Amino acid sequence: MKLYWKVLITAMLPLFLVLGLGMYQVNRSVRIHEESVAEENRLKVSLLRFRLSSFLKEMQKTASILGASGDAARAVEGADTDYLTAWGKLFLDGGGTYRILFTDLDGTVLSRPHDPFRFGDSLRSHPAVRSAAEGRDVAAFYEIEGFFSIVCAAPVKLYGEIPVGTVMVAAPVSPALLASFVSGTGLDLLVEPEGYPPAASFDGTCGRSFLSLDPELVHEGIPMKRVLVFFPDDLAITPLTELHSNLVIAVGFFFIALPLGLFLMLRRHLRPYARLMENLLHLSDKDADLPGVRERLEAEDGNARNEVSAVTAAVARILKMLEEKIALLEWTSRTDALTQVNNRLHLDRVLQREIGCIEREDPPLSVLILDLDHFKDVNDTFGHQAGDGVLRKTAGILSSVVGGRGSVGRWGGEEFLVILPGTGLDNAFLLAEEIRCEVERGDFGITRYVTVSIGVAQAVAGDTPVSLVRRADVGLYRAKAGGRNRTVLGER
Ligand code: GH3
Ligand code: MG
Ligand code: MG
Repeated sequence: MKLYWKVLITAMLPLFLVLGLGMYQVNRSVRIHEESVAEENRLKVSLLRFRLSSFLKEMQKTASILGASGDAARAVEGADTDYLTAWGKLFLDGGGTYRILFTDLDGTVLSRPHDPFRFGDSLRSHPAVRSAAEGRDVAAFYEIEGFFSIVCAAPVKLYGEIPVGTVMVAAPVSPALLASFVSGTGLDLLVEPEGYPPAASFDGTCGRSFLSLDPELVHEGIPMKRVLVFFPDDLAITPLTELHSNLVIAVGFFFIALPLGLFLMLRRHLRPYARLMENLLHLSDKDADLPGVRERLEAEDGNARNEVSAVTAAVARILKMLEEKIALLEWTSRTDALTQVNNRLHLDRVLQREIGCIEREDPPLSVLILDLDHFKDVNDTFGHQAGDGVLRKTAGILSSVVGGRGSVGRWGGEEFLVILPGTGLDNAFLLAEEIRCEVERGDFGITRYVTVSIGVAQAVAGDTPVSLVRRADVGLYRAKAGGRNRTVLGER
């Protein structure tokens, strides 16, 4: 796993845990609050039901008391409007909630205690009056005097058993009546009978949550389309839900933006480390390409920051030094220390390689073997230092004459070998002569001529380095034997 993934996971995990725990706590608080609000609303609805049923019972009781009075019965029988009005007024509340009507058995209104000067009209066809006249108690919704009302009607009985008329207690379903049912609860009530406009304890429309109530008075009278109880707005839930949605947004942000930002930031900062590590790992390869790795590190140096940059630059410098040391070592290992031309080891390698090429491609390959004449005398006469100088000068002449045509090296002692790939025997001979003349003409800083004898040979199929040099050696031997300072072809 990459370093930045590890860092990312380590950083994000606790954050997600904390946010997850926060979400859980807020959800739990919201749930507990909602449950308590629901419980509170249940209690309020129970209270409302209790108030409604109490109100109805109160009306039924009022109707029963009004109708059960013997004096009232006699007053109905005697059409004593004044008495009935006075009797009924005792049960009217100051707020005008109730309306009370006394009728005889024919439905003629004998008294309206709430409206004392209006009587004598007939309610014969009113279902509640008819039912009460037949001796039944009524509790239902009816329209009475133009108002949709809760109506409780009862027969007025003489001696407690002979119906002589009816009494009706009605409560118009007004906004004020509905408001009295819900007062102090924060609830609101809407009642909508079939075929009538709705009445509500509030003005206008209400967008709050509500509950549908089953009206109890449905067995007769006007059927109810709907009775709705509206719950108060839950003000305490608002900050909780806001906190909840803010948390959801925060979690969304943390889940998307933060990992992305962190990932990009970490990748930006840690990539140079990763690259440095990658490049350093290449160094452990068997065929490590030091200059390649160094160039990549040098290119990286500009992109990296701070300590990575310093380490990258330092490694690049170390590699540069290493390359120089290796180059020096390589040069030393193939160079003769005295003459600065190739040494025997390197000549062997070149010879081996060139002879290998001949076997495959068959271009000409020639070698010259050179030996300074009477060099021992030079040493003996002018000293070893002067001898060294002669060797150096000879190597210089060889290098400049041969140039790019071949490889020059010290074969040993005062002997040199020139390898001439692509050069045939004739051209090799001419080159050998050129060398010989240059040496002969050369100024070696000593008071005598320095000459060189040269043996020349061209490689043939099946030659080895040893056989090729040996044939050139034959030429050299003959040159020495022939009087020195000459070039002689070796055996073919
Ligand atoms: P010839 O013409 O037959 O080749 O005679 P020569 O004297 O050149 O050959 P010989 O083999 O008798 O002597 C070679 C000498 O080269 C002997 C040795 O002291 C000298 N020599 C070999 N290597 C070095 C060297 O590195 N420096 C010096 N100054 N002399 C060297
Ligand atoms: Mg020799
Ligand atoms: Mg010699």
